[in-house]
Amino acid sequence: MRTIPIPCLSDNYAYLIVDEETGQAGIVDPSEAEPVERVVQQEGVKLTAILNTHHHWDHIGGNKGLLAKHPGLSVYGHTSDSGRIDGFTDGLDMGGGLTLGSLKFDVLHNPGHTMGAITFVVNGCAFTGDTLFAAGCGRVFEGTMEMMYKSLNEVLGGLPDDTKLYFGHEYTENNLRFAEHVEPDNADVQQRLAEVRKVRAAGKFTTPSTLAKERKTNPFLRCEAAGVKAKGGGGSPAQVFGAIRGMKDRFRGTPSRRLRCGVRAPSPGAPLLSSGSPPSRQRSDP
Ligand SMILES: [Zn+2]
Repeated sequence: MRTIPIPCLSDNYAYLIVDEETGQAGIVDPSEAEPVERVVQQEGVKLTAILNTHHHWDHIGGNKGLLAKHPGLSVYGHTSDSGRIDGFTDGLDMGGGLTLGSLKFDVLHNPGHTMGAITFVVNGCAFTGDTLFAAGCGRVFEGTMEMMYKSLNEVLGGLPDDTKLYFGHEYTENNLRFAEHVEPDNADVQQRLAEVRKVRAAGKFTTPSTLAKERKTNPFLRCEAAGVKAKGGGGSPAQVFGAIRGMKDRFRGTPSRRLRCGVRAPSPGAPLLSSGSPPSRQRSDP
C-alpha cells in the first residue's frame, strides 16, 4: 500500500491510497478533482473509490468531477451523510468496513466536528479528516464537546501508538503555537514546533503524524495532564476539553482576524460562530 498526500485548495489534503497488488486506488476527501486526477494519471492507477470522512464542501468538492471522469466509482461516507455527499453510494457506520483491491479498511464513527464524521483505518494508517489534526482537532460544529472528547480520546485514542495519522488540513504550525500557549513547559511541544517550522520553511508537508506524537503534544489528547487541566479550569477531562477547545476558537489567527473586508468583527465575548456563513463554509479549525 502506498499513500500519496495531494495538497488541495489553500491547506487541505486529499490522500490517494494505492493497493500495489491490484493497481486499484481510492481517494480520501477529494477537495478538488483536478489535482487528484493529475496524480491518478501520473501514477497510472485505477481509481475505484472515493472515501469521504465527512460532508463538508472542502472534503467532497471533487466528487462530481471525479465521477464524471470515472463513472461507477464507489462513494463511501457515514450512513447519516447520504443526502449531503455528492454521488454517495455506500453508507458506513462504527465497526463497518470496506474493501479496496486487497486492502481491508475498518471504519470508526467519531462524531463531534460533524455528526457523521468517520475515520478510515487500514494497515496501521488512520485517515481522520477534520476530527484529529497534528497537534489539534477540528471545531465542534454539529456535536457536543463531550461527544468530541470521546471521539478523540476513546475512539481514536484506542488505536495503537504507532498508528500513522493522515489528517485533513495543514494547520500543524498554528496548532503547535496554541499547544505551547496551553502548556508552555512542555518540551515535546517546543521541540516539535521547532521541527515543524523547519519542515514548513522547506515547503514540505507535516502529514502524517503518529498517535504517540499526538499523545505528547496535542492538548486535546492531554486533558488529564496537569498543565492542560489547570489552563482549562479543572473539572472532568471532557470539561477541560470544552474549555480548551473554546480557547482555541478564539486563539490568534482565528476567524476574527480572517473576516472579509467590510465584515465587522464580533464584539468581545460574542460567540464567534453564531451567525454568518453556515458551518460547512467556515474554516475547519484555523
Ligand atoms: Zn470539516
